[in-house]
Amino acid sequence: MTRGGSTRAWRALRAAVAERDGYRCTYPQPDGHPCRQYAPLAGPGAGHADHVVPVKHGGTDTLTNLRWLCAPHNLGRGTNPDPAPLRDWTW
Ligand SMILES: [Zn+2]
Repeated sequence: MTRGGSTRAWRALRAAVAERDGYRCTYPQPDGHPCRQYAPLAGPGAGHADHVVPVKHGGTDTLTNLRWLCAPHNLGRGTNPDPAPLRDWTW
């Protein structure tokens, strides 16, 4: 789940996650390939910085525990496990 905060630190971290992931959704599909949906920082279709390990399960606000997801995948994921491990990939 995405933390709802809008602090300066969170905004900066969120932007860093988006840039690292190329503004594309990294949610693994059942075959292990990422979704790749383009999701900008703001505006229509904006992406979400998702906690790989949910905060309620001890996850932290760090780059290694965050990934960029399109809104449908972030909102649909909840705290469920991924359908498959993400394979090595490049855009
Ligand atoms: Zn997606």
